[in-house]
Amino acid sequence: MNVELKLKGVNQNAIQEMNRSLILHLLWEYTLCSRAKLAQLTGLKPATLSNVINSFIEWGIVKEEGSIDGKKGRRAIGIRLDTERYCIVAIRLSQKYFSVGLFDISGKEIEHDTHFYDGNTNTSKDVFDRIRQEIRRRIEENVPRKILAIGFAIPGPFIRKDGRIALMSEFTHWKDIFIKAELEAEFSIPVYLEHDAHVGAFAEYWHMSCNREIDLVYIAAGQGIGTGIITNGTLYKGGLGSAGEIGHTCVEVNGLQCECGSKGCLEKYCSSLALTAEVNKKLSAGADSILHPNCSFDEIVEAIQKGDHLARNEYMRTCEYLSVGVINIINLLNPHIIVIGDEMSRVDANLLLFIINKNVENHILPKIKEFTKIMINPTDSFLTGACIYTLEEIFKNPVVFQKK
Ligand SMILES: [Zn+2]
Repeated sequence: MNVELKLKGVNQNAIQEMNRSLILHLLWEYTLCSRAKLAQLTGLKPATLSNVINSFIEWGIVKEEGSIDGKKGRRAIGIRLDTERYCIVAIRLSQKYFSVGLFDISGKEIEHDTHFYDGNTNTSKDVFDRIRQEIRRRIEENVPRKILAIGFAIPGPFIRKDGRIALMSEFTHWKDIFIKAELEAEFSIPVYLEHDAHVGAFAEYWHMSCNREIDLVYIAAGQGIGTGIITNGTLYKGGLGSAGEIGHTCVEVNGLQCECGSKGCLEKYCSSLALTAEVNKKLSAGADSILHPNCSFDEIVEAIQKGDHLARNEYMRTCEYLSVGVINIINLLNPHIIVIGDEMSRVDANLLLFIINKNVENHILPKIKEFTKIMINPTDSFLTGACIYTLEEIFKNPVVFQKK
């Protein structure tokens, strides 16, 4: 048999880096740990472990702290991540606003703020310039703390190798900005660009204590519909990095025209933009409602909460379509957990969950339905997710700290 061998051997440096990565992840997970506990968890010899810990202390990413309970009632020196020296800047870009946050290397938020903009008066370049100013301000104001990397969560499909957005409705020129290359050239630090649904999945995974035995799908149901798929602790990205674009799967043959070029895409029926468009279409046709034509998504949410029939019925219709997306995910991926978040989950989480569960029950085999846990998390966790994703990437190669 003629087999092309593509695997490569692992050299000593790579093994050392794998050990460092493992120890950093354990310190991240356990917060405070003794050397003996780390030796037990990793199976490393005490001398090897000590070498790694001593390097980490020297690089300023780990510190010794107090004493904790050790073996046979003895006290042991505690080891934890040193969160004083390095930070991560996380950014979440959406069609209405961007948020910028500062996080320590344990993933704890130090501060964040949100900046709104209007697509009618602000160009993509205006918004990008404001984001760059916010990054620069944080770099300058946090001296002597060093910003280690930037995590950037973006909406919609993106081209990973180019580090740019492929499609953003109403902000067509974002696709012309090479976000990763421009920021790395300006600030000389690595930039990790990732789809917002993908980092949302990382935030959920982190909240679930990074349990690698759980396959998780996060659905970002906002102005678009995207998913992040985490399996065995790793994000499934696909060849170009655009995996999880369930919003552009077809649910209506010859349905509504989508910006992606296709017709009948899921997000044309259950995103917040779709809900807003449909309510306004019916209002213009004279439908009875407390709302007036050209109303915003926020006004529709308020009307739903006040019991407006038109707004509520249209929201329920979007929930039916979102159920189709959930059913397709279950059949395709058989995940342990599906979490639904972003704008559409904040409208009426109980109603959304009720409609999805009802449809899943009617369309999925009982054994698979019982296996799948469906949850709603209306919290905006994209900023945290951008930080967690960035830390995951950095912790794969801890030697970056040595070079700092
Ligand atoms: Zn589409």
